[in-house]
Amino acid sequence: MTITDVARRVEELRAQIRDHNYRYYVLDDPSVSDAEYDAQMRELRGLEASHPELLTPDSPTQRVGAAVTSQFAKVRHPQPMLSLGNALNEAELHEWYESRIVKLLGPGAEVAFVVEPKIDGLAIALTYENGRLRVGATRGDGEIGEDVTANLRTVGGVPLALRSIADFRLQNAEPDEDSTAAQSAIYNLQSEIFSIEVRGEVYMRIADFEALNERLAAAGEKVFANARNSAAGSLRQKDPRLTASRPLRFFAYAVGPFRGIELTGQWQTLQTLKALGFPVNRDARRFTSFAEVVEYCHAWMARRDSLDYEADGIVIKVDSFAQQRELGVVGRDPRWAVAYKFPAREDVTQLTNIVVNVGRTGVITPNAELEPVQLGGVTVRNASLHNADYISSRDIRIGDYVTVKRSGDVIPYVVGPVLNRRPPEAQPYQFPTHCPACATALERIEGEAAWRCPNFGICPAQLVRRVEHFVSRGAMDIVGIGERQAELFVSSGLIKDVADLYSLKAESFDGMEGFGTKRVANLLEAIEQSKSRPLDRLIVALGIRFVGSVVALALANHFGSLDGLMGADADAIDAIDGIGPAVANSVVDFFQHQSNQAVVAKLKAAGLNTSSGAPRRLQGDGLSGKTFVLTGTLPTLTREQAAELIQSHGGKISDSVSKKTSYVVAGASAGSKLAKAQSLNIPVLDEDGLTALIGEAAPPAAAAAPAPEAPATPEPAPDTGQLALDL
Ligand code: NAD
Repeated sequence: MTITDVARRVEELRAQIRDHNYRYYVLDDPSVSDAEYDAQMRELRGLEASHPELLTPDSPTQRVGAAVTSQFAKVRHPQPMLSLGNALNEAELHEWYESRIVKLLGPGAEVAFVVEPKIDGLAIALTYENGRLRVGATRGDGEIGEDVTANLRTVGGVPLALRSIADFRLQNAEPDEDSTAAQSAIYNLQSEIFSIEVRGEVYMRIADFEALNERLAAAGEKVFANARNSAAGSLRQKDPRLTASRPLRFFAYAVGPFRGIELTGQWQTLQTLKALGFPVNRDARRFTSFAEVVEYCHAWMARRDSLDYEADGIVIKVDSFAQQRELGVVGRDPRWAVAYKFPAREDVTQLTNIVVNVGRTGVITPNAELEPVQLGGVTVRNASLHNADYISSRDIRIGDYVTVKRSGDVIPYVVGPVLNRRPPEAQPYQFPTHCPACATALERIEGEAAWRCPNFGICPAQLVRRVEHFVSRGAMDIVGIGERQAELFVSSGLIKDVADLYSLKAESFDGMEGFGTKRVANLLEAIEQSKSRPLDRLIVALGIRFVGSVVALALANHFGSLDGLMGADADAIDAIDGIGPAVANSVVDFFQHQSNQAVVAKLKAAGLNTSSGAPRRLQGDGLSGKTFVLTGTLPTLTREQAAELIQSHGGKISDSVSKKTSYVVAGASAGSKLAKAQSLNIPVLDEDGLTALIGEAAPPAAAAAPAPEAPATPEPAPDTGQLALDL
């Protein structure tokens, strides 16, 4: 590249980054992902480093955030609010330690570090005088922020007045090392005029963010791309009442200028902030060696999914303020701190198509096909779109650039479109009116967001799914049949229902490619062996809605035979402990279908085991006596899995909300059941709330054996043996 090319590229990058900054910090509506932004910033930094003559003081690399708007009064920060340098991998983390800490403080220097989660929200500064909150401001461009005091006053966790020293002494009757340090810092409060600027992060919990997006989507308003933008957008509202209605939270992590108090290091500062009444992150730790820091970072990365807030990394700070001063600042980043960033799990990519799948009970689920995108080290090509309402409420269109998110083991999903990148030709998506496999008109299940193909028993797509389910491990466990074979058997007319598997003979495969004598013999043997599976597995294999392994076991134990179950009415099934009316109705409904009766008759004629042996036990009964209603789409559990999880712990599932309902479990696109629960003051749980409830209710033995496919309950903080903030 010639110097002119470099200069042109530098200007181009600066213009783009300025625009991204404006959209991100001022409009709270970014049009590129953080990963794309960070890549541009890195490229610019690299070019400026190799061509220092091109560096100008107004380059985005030299400043923090973006210019403040005229919407709010301006506040000059008494001390600049900085950003943080990044380390994207362990090598860069070591590089920071070697090139900054060891090199500048000297190899023999004793250095302690404080490690804190990097909460993904927006930085604010709160100025307290004589113990009272005077001004609250955003970081703005680092020098000048916006006065959002009225809004910050509505945020839970922002103290309007500091706790007095008397309260503090009372609570720390037997002070330990940390509280003594905090106490000695605050003793000076009594004699001098006290002022302090407290810095921290306003953020939104993940569940609160998702619920807010649901509300916005339902009201036809624009959804936020992520929890960070939603926190920023909610705080920077002209009307504080709107901010008050948003579920914002606050963590304090630093101080600016202070008077009348003695603070000598980051750890002691955190203790002091806690004593003064600020929420401080409980996962902060102090370490006296860098090796321990790295080890904690590893442990922390592994815990990422169990957090109820978005953390985009870990911040590592040199503890001692004297050492911090010695190290100083470069550009907008302090040398004494670094943000070790997690791999991004959210990105923007183009949605190239929407395809709908037909499930085994006929439920139609839409999926997005995407331009491949890397999320947290995995290439993602498809993402969930949940259901028809989800697509229409967010106006997601084919051709749109969309934000895609993947957290933990959850299937990646489309958060929403990036509107200012919408191609002009993108048309609103029309959800199919007919089944893509059998062309039957789709029906809407009452009270649910899902559309369904009602051609039960005949629709080939449903049959393929049912065969896959029938032969799966938790059901009849027939090795040698998977998705491909199921499709082949159905499309070639070899089987017309699952029972036809048992009429297959060696000749059936004549002329079929890939089915040699040996393979066919093995397959027929596996099918033969499956005939003796226990009754509960056969009940699972039938694929009745809401009936998973736990319910099937309860039914098998109670009725003793398939005939017994088929002859039972809804009341008899409902009376079984742990089974509710929704399951009972679903079972009765299943056996009323003639096509199902015919399949069962064929299975019996083929000689399958249809009576149960000695009863086996369920998992736990911590939810016994409690009735649950499920509504909306949960982030990780299907409705069947959630029902099964509840039932496996003794809870009942019901279809409708009444005063007798103990809990409503609500997910995305929850409808009238949620509104009814709220009007009746019935507690509403999200998926995390449900798993937490089960975690509390489960006896230790049951907790050790989670229900199949249920997500693990969040892990407690690992006991590292280090000092921890006890909040
Ligand atoms: P940063 O997010 O990399 O780190 C600095 C910030 O971390 C602090 O200001 C503070 O708000 C926060 N923080 C959280 N926990 C902390 C703790 N315990 N201690 C100290 N600080 C803590 O830097 P930034 O300047 O706030 O933002 C830059 C980042 O924002 C970029 O790397 C990019 O990912 C994103 N961004 C994206 C766009 C876009 O268009 N997508 C535009 C601008 C910025």
